[in-house]
Amino acid sequence: MISFWERESLLQYDVIIIGSGIVGLQTAIQVKEKHPNYDVLVLERGLLPSGASTRNAGFAATGSLSELVADAAHTPEAAIIDLFAKRKSGIDFLRAQLGDAAIGYKNEGSHELLTAEESGILDHIEHYNQLLKEVSGSNSFALADQQLGSFGFSSGRFKHCIACTTEAALHTGKLIKSLLRLALQKGVEIKTGAEVTHIESRNGKNEVIVKDGFHERIHFEAAQVIVCTNAFSSRFFPGEDLQPGRGQVLVTKPIENLKVKGIFHFDQGYYYFRNVGNRVLLGGGRNLDFTAENTTDISLNEQIQDHLVALLKTDLVPGRGVEIDMQWSGIMAFGATKMPIIKSLEGNIHGGFRLGGMGVALGSMVAVELAQRIE
Ligand SMILES: Cc1cc2nc3c(=O)[nH]c(=O)nc-3n(C[C@H](O)[C@H](O)[C@H](O)COP(=O)(O)OP(=O)(O)OC[C@H]3O[C@@H](n4cnc5c(N)ncnc54)[C@H](O)[C@@H]3O)c2cc1C
Repeated sequence: MISFWERESLLQYDVIIIGSGIVGLQTAIQVKEKHPNYDVLVLERGLLPSGASTRNAGFAATGSLSELVADAAHTPEAAIIDLFAKRKSGIDFLRAQLGDAAIGYKNEGSHELLTAEESGILDHIEHYNQLLKEVSGSNSFALADQQLGSFGFSSGRFKHCIACTTEAALHTGKLIKSLLRLALQKGVEIKTGAEVTHIESRNGKNEVIVKDGFHERIHFEAAQVIVCTNAFSSRFFPGEDLQPGRGQVLVTKPIENLKVKGIFHFDQGYYYFRNVGNRVLLGGGRNLDFTAENTTDISLNEQIQDHLVALLKTDLVPGRGVEIDMQWSGIMAFGATKMPIIKSLEGNIHGGFRLGGMGVALGSMVAVELAQRIE
């Protein structure tokens, strides 16, 4: 039950954005920049964002070479260049908008690691350097086998190392905090613990129906609605090619004289690790059990987590008695292609979702495009 005062003053907005991940927050900022007088509200179901944006690995990533080569099997080269360019622009955008210190951006190098069986990937370096030259401004990939011995890995697993010049690391927590601060500074309202159950379009207005811990149904109203719920978007955009994909992550306790520096990918991006100060963050392994990980349930997959721990101890930081500090998961969104879906429905309802495994990089570009759709 709501009061007269609440109905009169607290439920009407020009634009309502659903979801406070990177796309939702950046969209709110972009809409406010274009329309400073609009009342903009972000509704987030969790007390904290509860999808991918605060649970990821913090790679400012454009894509490893083996991943691009694998994508080329089913994606035209023009689309690969376009996606690479969007990822790069997204990273540049965040750096210019918020500043490197505020997002913990650090370029300590990015490397892809290859086994002996994958050495054929090296033959593609030249081709992709040429293909991406206009976007990167220089070579994106370089053979760096001579560095392999310096990271402290076991000598058994990886035989080659490719440096990726367009990638770096950032601090996911600082990034989201900075976006939150900027959104609030610009006058965006953010309500958390507010799950949108459905949207009803009526007479040129949209009713956004919300459930919280106190009310079963509160009817908010907005002329325009933007759905930024990534893997959770099927309820608003049914029938779209959208599959959830859970990602498992762990972080170690501090390790003295850690040699792992920068960000690393292997196995076509299915595994990724980095240093966070003197700790190692390791994630991935979704390809060990695609069926179990096709879920929106934020819980741990013990089999994958155990595999990650074993990898860490035998191959990545061998012989160091590594201890695990935290383990968690987050939910990504995938489809037949890696292009995000940006769509508008009748009644001024727009959506930007399916950000895949590189939404930190892509998110701001999706937000800019969504804000352009607002009248
Ligand atoms: C383990 C893991 C590692 C990753 N590593 C990287 C990386 O290193 N680099 C990179 O670029 N990308 C990475 N990603 C991907 C990246 O995090 C995502 O692509 C990106 O965060 C997606 O942002 P988003 O705002 O679209 O979605 P989300 O962050 O999922 O935000 C959607 C929000 O909508 C809210 N929501 C959902 N339904 C409702 C509803 N009905 N009502 C109200 N709110 C709702 C959710 O709670 C959530 O907060 C990783 C993802 C995971 C899971």
